[in-house]
Order: sequence, then C-alpha cells, then structure tokens
Amino acid sequence: MEKFNSKIPDGPLARKWTKYKASVKLVSPANKKKLEIIVIGSGVAGAGAASALGELGYNVKIFCYNDSPRRAHSVASQGGVNAAKNYQNDGDSVYRLFLDMIKGGDFRSREGNVYRAAEVSNQVIDHFTALGVPFARDYGGTLNTRSFGGVQVSRTFYAKGQTGQQCLLGTYAALNRQIKKGTVTMYPRREMLDLVLIDGKARGIIARNLITGKIEKYAAHVVVLATGGYGTIYYLSTLAVNSNGSAAWKAHKKGALFANPSFVQIHPTSIPQLNEFQSKLTLMSESLRNDGRIWVPKTKGDKRPANEIPEEERDYYLERRYPAFGNLVPRDIASRAAKERCDAGYGVGKTGLAVNLDFMDAIKKQGKKAIENKYGNLFDMYKTITGMDPYEEPMRIYPAGHYTMGGLWVDYELMTTIQGLYAIGEANFSDHGANRLGASSLMQIAADGFFILPNTISNYLADEIHVPKISTDKPEFEEAEKSVVEKLNKLISIKGKQTAASFHKRLGKIMWDYCGMIRNKEGLEKAITLVNELKEEFWRDLNIPGTIYELNPELEKAGRVADFFDLAILLITDALNRNESCGAHFREEYQTPDGEAMRNDAEFAYVAAWEYKGEGKPHILHKEELKFEEVEMKVRSYK
Ligand SMILES: Cc1cc2nc3c(=O)[nH]c(=O)nc-3n(C[C@H](O)[C@H](O)[C@H](O)COP(=O)(O)OP(=O)(O)OC[C@H]3O[C@@H](n4cnc5c(N)ncnc54)[C@H](O)[C@@H]3O)c2cc1C
Repeated sequence: MEKFNSKIPDGPLARKWTKYKASVKLVSPANKKKLEIIVIGSGVAGAGAASALGELGYNVKIFCYNDSPRRAHSVASQGGVNAAKNYQNDGDSVYRLFLDMIKGGDFRSREGNVYRAAEVSNQVIDHFTALGVPFARDYGGTLNTRSFGGVQVSRTFYAKGQTGQQCLLGTYAALNRQIKKGTVTMYPRREMLDLVLIDGKARGIIARNLITGKIEKYAAHVVVLATGGYGTIYYLSTLAVNSNGSAAWKAHKKGALFANPSFVQIHPTSIPQLNEFQSKLTLMSESLRNDGRIWVPKTKGDKRPANEIPEEERDYYLERRYPAFGNLVPRDIASRAAKERCDAGYGVGKTGLAVNLDFMDAIKKQGKKAIENKYGNLFDMYKTITGMDPYEEPMRIYPAGHYTMGGLWVDYELMTTIQGLYAIGEANFSDHGANRLGASSLMQIAADGFFILPNTISNYLADEIHVPKISTDKPEFEEAEKSVVEKLNKLISIKGKQTAASFHKRLGKIMWDYCGMIRNKEGLEKAITLVNELKEEFWRDLNIPGTIYELNPELEKAGRVADFFDLAILLITDALNRNESCGAHFREEYQTPDGEAMRNDAEFAYVAAWEYKGEGKPHILHKEELKFEEVEMKVRSYK
C-alpha cells in the first residue's frame, strides 16, 4: 500500500494547472484572517510565499536563522532565471521549456509538475519585473536573455552575475510591505529545532533564539518549510556555509518522506579548492559558458601558462565530444567530462585538478567592455580570490557540490506526507528529477512561493476554518520542547576535544570521495562504514564551549552536523539502491562504452521516497512510479 498520492490532476497536460486552480477549495477573506501560517525560511521561496500569503490576508509568521531575510542563501544566485517568454523568437515555448527540463532531469521527474513550472515561469518574470528587479535589457529596452546549459534557446533573464541578489531584494521589498501592513511577522535569528504535530497534523515549531539561546514555541494551522538544500553535506560547496538539512531532517523524523536524497548536483564551474583551510568554494556562474570556452592541453602534464599553448595544442573537449551543445551541455555532463580529463592527467594548475575557462576569443570578437557588462562582477570576484585576471588569462575551474534535487517528498499541492506540512523551493524534490538545468531553481522557488503554494494551500485550509487558534500550552508542544532541550544537553555535555566543523570537514571528504560525482557499490558500502565510525566518534569526542542559553554558534553547528550524519547514511543508501546511472547520479557500473550514463527505465523510473523508522533502524523505501504520457523516455543525448 502506497504511503502517498501525488494528486496530479487528470486531463491534458497543458490544462492540469488551470483546471486545478478553477476547482480548488477557497477560503473567504473573513476566514483567512483567522488562519495562521508559519513559514520557515526567508529565501526567495519562503519570503515569496510569506508575502503572497500575507497579501491574501492570512496571518503569517516567518522565521530564518540569518540576521536579516536578505541574507538567505538565495542572495548568492548568480546567473539568472529561466522563462518561456520567447522574446528572442528562437523557437522557445512553455512546451519546449517543459521538454528541456524533463530531458535535463533524465526522466526522473513528474510531467505534471514540470509542465506547471514551465507554465508559471512567465508569471515569475513579470512579477520580478514589477517588484523592481533590474533585469538586463537590450538596446530597444526589451528584457534581454542569455543561454544556460542543456538548451538551444536563449531564455535566461539576468541581472549581471547578481540575479539572485536582485530577486531576493525585490522579494524582500514585497515581504516588508506585508510586515508594515501587519499581516506578516518576521522572526530573524531563530532556528527551528523541531516540528510539532497534534493528531498527526503539523501545528507548530520549537525554535531556538540564536541571540539569547531561549527555546521558544510557535503554533499555527499549517507549517511551510522553505529551508533550502543540503549541499553543504559535502562541507566544501558553493552554498552559503550555514545552509543545512536539519529542518527537513526533523520533519522527516516526524513522518515526512524524503525523496531521491542521492540526487545531488555537482556544478562544473567552481573556483578550485586553493588550500586545506578553506571552508567554502566560490561558484563562477554557468552563464560564463555562453562566451567562455572550456579546454585542457592536448599533452598530458603540459604546465605551460595557458596563453603560451598554441590553438592546435588545445583540446576543447566539450565542443569535441558534444558538438550540438558544446560548452553548454548540462552540468552533470560538463562536471564528469572535467573530472575525466583531470583524472587522465590533462588537468591544469599546480594540483592538476582544474580546467581552463577561456574568454580570449569572446574578448577579441565582442570587446572587453561587452564582456565586462555581462560578467564584470564575476571577473572581479575571481581576480580577488585567485589573484589571476580573467581578462588576460583563462579562469581555472573545477566541479563542486552545488544543489540538491532531492528533498522532502511533496504532492502536486506541495504538501509533504504530514498533513498541513508543506515544503517549497530547494527543500522539496519536486521538479528537477536527477539533474537541474541552470537558472531553473530561481524559476521554481519563485513559482512555488509566489504562485503555486498560495493557490494550493487553500484546499487544505478551507477545512481548517473551524479550528480555533492553536495554543502552545498543549502537551505536544511541551513534549517537543523537552526533547529539543534533551538533545541540546546531550550535545553540549560530551565535552570532548574536536570541533563540529572538524567533523563536518571529515564527513564532507567521505561524501565527496565515495558519493560525489561518480559512485560505485564498493565505495558506497565503504562510505556507510566510514560515516558510522565518524558518527560514533562525534558523539564521543565533540567539544562545544559555553551553554545552551546564550549566543553559541558552536552549538548551532553541532546540531546541524549531527543531522548530517543521519542524512548522509540515507543519501548513500539511496545511491546504493539506484542500480542505474541517471542525471547527476552516476554509478560507474552502469555506463555506456563511451562513458555516458546508462539509465534503467524498466526498474528505476520511480521517485524513491524513504520513510524513517527510528534511530538506528533501516529506512523503508516507497516507490512513486513515474508515468510518461506526453514524452517518450529516450537516451539523453547532447551530441
Ligand atoms: C553560488 C550559487 C549560485 C546560484 N545561482 C543560481 C542561478 O543563477 N539561478 C538559479 O536558478 N539558481 C541558482 N542557484 C540555486 C539557488 O540559489 C537556490 O536553489 C535557491 O536560492 C534556494 O532558495 P530557497 O528559497 O529554496 O532557500 P534558501 O535561499 O537557501 O533559503 C533558506 C532559508 O531557510 C532558512 N532556514 C534554513 N533552516 C532553518 C531552520 N532550521 N530554522 C530557521 N530558518 C531556517 C534560512 O535562514 C534561509 O532564510 C545558485 C546556487 C548557488 C550555491
């Protein structure tokens, strides 16, 4: 018996969302005022949802651990937002965006969800423009676009290399308007440490005030998680260092299924690790692949400066292997190709773990000014970090952990398997299958927050109008608070010698080595043993100075790392279970003779949704079969 129902509406693909919206239950304005909603997370997904729900008239409380919503990780998005506007008249359409996403995700996502994401994309651009996002414009004043990986049209709207920052600022303005109106209350520097269920429904949270350490209780009719992805499980990643998977993990432990945890995106164009002391990697946006050409020397171990290697001695390996898409192949393919070249001894730089991203041709053709206009801030960032000037010599890049396609399982309404608990944005698994195409996260998180959730949530809340304001005096809140305090006490009383960050770093290395870009059965099994050993050492030798009831960043980190150990085991288990290669999940045993991913549609065309059964007990796997009625599952080719 399945634990879930994906609730995809019947009828033709292009009519599903329209039909859903026309038949969904509504809540009258008078009743909306009586209903309370908690949103955790103030990135574009969470702040977008809170502002839209506030505008509708609900009472919203929004929480984040940052000191300001403006510092949510979304601020780091660089390259752009996809939409099917077809301003370029280059053959784009909602249907083509849908096809690109389904193919890009290697046929491991739901047709209904993906089509809706493509359909809502156009509203997203209009909305951001209305919020004042300064998207780049062409000479005639029309919004300009560029191309991202895995597509042959130009559909990415951008604001230099700071698109996420501008989108978050626009969203923040919308949020502030609601805060001023009194529909939304903002709680910064609060970390949700548990979810409270009453009679099986999500009814509130336990949070720690990160300034005072006080444990606080908040109640509502529904809870929305917009808590981002868990890519920092690799320690070194392109994400904000504080990004983590704990909120999703707490919900998972309370009954929310976790879907496709092993679908993790490794981005091909990060600045390579420079030394052992680094705690973060910096992305160089995929947009750079519009004009930058990726190459390595044709001769193994050639350590001459890039500019001294003549044209005929360079291997533009993406253009050679994938002539149809060239440097704009999807991320999973570009990442593996870079790793293959470096492993074969053609990598550049001191470590040999880098490839060139070269703008010299583009500068010659378009002029330095044109390149500066498109990517100036990224070039400056690169120069500040590496001391090398990309206007004069190629950038050096290497793959790094970046984005998690996996996340909490949600149905078409974005509700998890816990009644009244929603997950939106990167925190859910919904739209990207086994590999996300560039610039489609901002598209999805804004669609989820501003447009989809505000429509679907009323279907649930319409039946909640008779439920009076929930009190935090209920025993369920007290029990949850007690268990949070016990867990914090357990962590703080270990009194060992090692910091949480040192454990995180070692966990990240295991994950990167055995469950990163390329995986195999033997390595994954070894990783489970290594993670369990490290987890045991963590609970024996962790050191946290200070107390619970004060500002204590070490305690915050430790709680997140503790959850990462358990999430890591699930991630590896999922990777072990999926005996196929698809998208970013590449199992060495399942590849074609020319090194491409080999899917197994007969056995694995499903969403793997895992159920938590208790500490130390194996998870149970539930399979949501993926039905393809509109597209034919084909071998993904970018040649
Ligand atoms: C360097 C970089 C560049 C990128 N560029 C692009 C791009 O150009 N285009 C694109 O489409 N995508 C891009 N992405 C991906 C995109 O940025 C993310 O997928 C997206 O921003 C996630 O947004 P979100 O709203 O879901 O969550 P986030 O922006 O990650 O926000 C999470 C929020 O949850 C809060 N939170 C988390 N846990 C808790 C807790 N326990 N208690 C309280 N609050 C909590 C945080 O405080 C934060 O407010 C990029 C990613 C990176 C790393």
